[in-house]
Amino acid sequence: MKRFELERAISENELVLHYQPIVEVPSRRLTGVEALVRWRHPERGLVSPLEFIPEAETTGLIRRLTFWVLREALLQSNVWRRDGAPLTVAVNLSVDNLHDQHFSRYMELTLKVAGGPELLIMEANSRALARDPDPPIPVLELMRAQGIRVTLDDATDEDAHLVEKLPIDIVKVSRGLVTRMGRDHRALEYVRAVVSAARGREIEATAVGVEDEATWNLLAGIGFSSAQGYLIAAPMPPSQLSEWRAARV
Ligand code: C2E
Ligand code: MG
Repeated sequence: MKRFELERAISENELVLHYQPIVEVPSRRLTGVEALVRWRHPERGLVSPLEFIPEAETTGLIRRLTFWVLREALLQSNVWRRDGAPLTVAVNLSVDNLHDQHFSRYMELTLKVAGGPELLIMEANSRALARDPDPPIPVLELMRAQGIRVTLDDATDEDAHLVEKLPIDIVKVSRGLVTRMGRDHRALEYVRAVVSAARGREIEATAVGVEDEATWNLLAGIGFSSAQGYLIAAPMPPSQLSEWRAARV
């Protein structure tokens, strides 16, 4: 993936956002979505973020990419709000964004233009934060002071110390653990450890990657308050999400 191609993708609007539903446990009521970026490549079709986010991070393009994602997600969130069907929208951040002075400023300006922060959630990846010699705690605090909720994303048992010290509202337990916990006792113990660290601080826990009813049936007992995964729905374009919502009620 070449830098100029990715630059073109951002400026020529080749990026698209898909939205994955997040539902309450145990009611399955839809409360929000996670915005997940894809690249509609002219020759390669829909390209996964796993193929171009790392490149965006090493080339510094992640700033423009995240600005684009944030703006697009807020515009979509406004559409849902105007239609009388508001949803929280979670946006993934790169740890580089959290160390970027311009980012906080951009976020403030965007929020002013796009409407209030109460439906916005920012997700910060736990692995990147754990490796960070200088965790960007003031930026997380700033976001929360503005009314944005902060998620520690992709957390495993090794991140219990982050759950204990970072200023966060939500912890998302990694798909790797969630998909295994129904058949692997150790995975289940790890999940319990993260969720109980979270609940000790009144942090909500979300399970990512729930693919079957057997896993779903464990969630409430462990203490999860919400979940996302293919059992509920895969990420989809906004038009399809409207149909999906309409078909559920
Ligand atoms: P993530 O933030 O952990 O997002 C969840 C990923 O798990 C998504 O992959 C989603 O499609 C997938 N997933 C959800 N439920 C299931 C399930 O039941 N089964 C399976 N097999 N997969 C499930 P996706 O969309 O490929 O995104 C991968 C990662 O790319 C994200 O992981 C996130 O770290 C990153 N990413 C996506 N969009 C952005 C973005 O706008 N900015 C940044 N910085 N990173 C992004
Ligand atoms: Mg995420």
